[in-house]
Amino acid sequence: MKLFIVNAGSSSLKFQLIHAHKRFDTLYEGIVDGIGRASCFFEASAGKKHTHYKKRIPKHARALKEAINILFEFGVVDSLKEIDAVGHRVVHGGEKYSKATKLTKPVIQNIEALSEIAPLHNPANLEGIYAAKEYIKHAPHIAIFDTAFHQTLPEKAYRYAVPREWYTTYHIRKYGFHGTNHRYVAHQTYNHLGKNKGKIITCHLGNGSSISAIKDNVCIDTSMGFTPLEGIPMGTRSGSIDPALPLYMTEKLNIDTNKMDTLLNNKCGILALSEKSSDVRDIWAKAQKKNKKACFTLEKLAYDIALKIGSYAAALNGLDALSFTAGIGENAWYLRRDICSYLSHLGITLDSRKNRANSTAIHDKKSSVHVLVIKANEGKQMAREIAHYLQ
Ligand code: AMP
Repeated sequence: MKLFIVNAGSSSLKFQLIHAHKRFDTLYEGIVDGIGRASCFFEASAGKKHTHYKKRIPKHARALKEAINILFEFGVVDSLKEIDAVGHRVVHGGEKYSKATKLTKPVIQNIEALSEIAPLHNPANLEGIYAAKEYIKHAPHIAIFDTAFHQTLPEKAYRYAVPREWYTTYHIRKYGFHGTNHRYVAHQTYNHLGKNKGKIITCHLGNGSSISAIKDNVCIDTSMGFTPLEGIPMGTRSGSIDPALPLYMTEKLNIDTNKMDTLLNNKCGILALSEKSSDVRDIWAKAQKKNKKACFTLEKLAYDIALKIGSYAAALNGLDALSFTAGIGENAWYLRRDICSYLSHLGITLDSRKNRANSTAIHDKKSSVHVLVIKANEGKQMAREIAHYLQ
């Protein structure tokens, strides 16, 4: 069974063709970045075949056409009829969707309606859906929602201490995001533990970051909230701050709420702390030269992440495994070391050599908690869920 996976962002489109057999091998994958800008970067590969070029690509539909052209050029398929289903990443499924869902007209209408609370994400996802439905008509199109894995949160975790009407009328609650990768990493973690039960914390630390608490394969809490702005500091997002702060600073800076929204999403987090870059690789390079702002950025990140892990260990009332994933989680060994230095009271001790090597298991023999590094793979998880849906 061949599954075409589409992840349409505001100015990018990622695609994968996955062979949904035992190992879920990727046959073809790539990215179009800069859609709508003067010049757009296209990259695709299939095994040893690789191509990349720059040109203007005005719309998602055109980006998808390029991806399909190269799919044929590489000879991965002879006809689009070989594609059995198309999977779409959809960021916001609200309270309606907790698993893979066929994109029928009413489902698409619901995703359109949810754009109200996910204005940055759902409209872009829909562009990908409209385009793919035009090109690949014979196969079912299936949505995988970023929020779905977190739909199991108990009410005490997802409700905010605000007037009830905010929830009932305006749908204000914690939704959580990155759910597909949290689900994937949880699955890999339980595989490693050799059982399907246990208390685990998954740390997705990338450009956007979120942490989830999972008990016996059920997500019980997660750090992102009504929007992906809540939680720990991220590349350019503030994470959680005093809720009075934006009100106060909107007035002080004499700006409107849109401008404040842009500031909180694009000018805060690692970028604001370091006053240099949102990329941890740059921060680490500076920190090695004893740059004070860079050292402080790493110190603050490790501290805030450790606090969240500590609070989730309390929510779980114990911890069997802690898993790191995504760009920072998989590579920044120095951050993992600093985060775990706060967690020895939970019985966490690292093997420094394994941690530096980004090995899969990085705890030492004394550690009472498994500490793992797991490569993010949303495409594979989406393919698994679609295959399960089609069974
Ligand atoms: P992601 O969102 O998972 O693609 O993660 C992207 C972020 O991961 C980048 O902005 C970097 O901050 C970070 N990152 C990627 N590679 C490395 C690396 N080798 N070392 C440290 N951080 C990295």
